[in-house]
Amino acid sequence: MSFFEIHEPEFERFILGNAPVKQLATGFDWVEGPVWFGDAGCLLFSDIPNNRILRWTPGSGITTYREPSHYANGHTRDRQGRLISCEHGKRRVTRTELDGRITVIADSFNGKPLNSPNDVIVACDGGIWFSDPHYGIMTNYEGFAAEQENACVVYRADPETGALDVMVDDMNCPNGLAFSPDEKSLYVADTGRMYSQDARSIRIYDMAGGTPVNGRHFHTISSGCADGIRVDSDGNLWSSAADGVHCIAPDGRFLGKILIPELVSNLCFGGRAKHELYVTATTSLYRITLNRRGTQEP
Ligand code: MG
Repeated sequence: MSFFEIHEPEFERFILGNAPVKQLATGFDWVEGPVWFGDAGCLLFSDIPNNRILRWTPGSGITTYREPSHYANGHTRDRQGRLISCEHGKRRVTRTELDGRITVIADSFNGKPLNSPNDVIVACDGGIWFSDPHYGIMTNYEGFAAEQENACVVYRADPETGALDVMVDDMNCPNGLAFSPDEKSLYVADTGRMYSQDARSIRIYDMAGGTPVNGRHFHTISSGCADGIRVDSDGNLWSSAADGVHCIAPDGRFLGKILIPELVSNLCFGGRAKHELYVTATTSLYRITLNRRGTQEP
């Protein structure tokens, strides 16, 4: 069987024909938020409904990193290598300091609680950008059911003060985020398809003096919708989809896909050369080696 669908010839250079999609671990409920720690030689990811962050280490497999995780979802690392977490349960974004202390970056806007921070990236200037849809407060499955008090937007948090600015407010349910390698473009996935078929696209914004402007349609995933997204070092966008991971060129062309046997939620690059793609997909963690390098996280 093939693990790939090639739609444009250039995609053949991105893949290794003999590299398998490998299931590294399974038996979870809804995994999300993968983040690679090269210095520790491990991957962290969330098992949201089971209220825990897990650690996968080559050779020794799965151990528990944090439980309870306050229903943590998306993760990234800042420029100092610290873990940044989106927590549905406490409706906040936190930073785990290098000594293990946890700093609350933000938990409210305009005096009202955030909805349920979902995914997060850190810019070169240290700014913490996160999406705040309401998925974690809709039911008790991935957090605690509660009333929504703020709009579903993308914020930038100041890493020192935690002060929030609304950066994207033209989406239904903003979710996965990624900057282009030069940080001249911001991509945001909208997973609002349960409300409108139109609201399931990836949008692109031009960055002007640190502010996203000129928001417009970039690409619509053909199978399911985009949740987590990542960019490789040449600016190709790798997106979660219902049938796997889709690769989209910087000009919006669909190049090809990696087929994964479960609904994909998120992904990240890792490994010694950031040439491995780690994929969280419903009940399992998968990995595939690519002829690509990721950009995000130190
Ligand atoms: Mg997400």
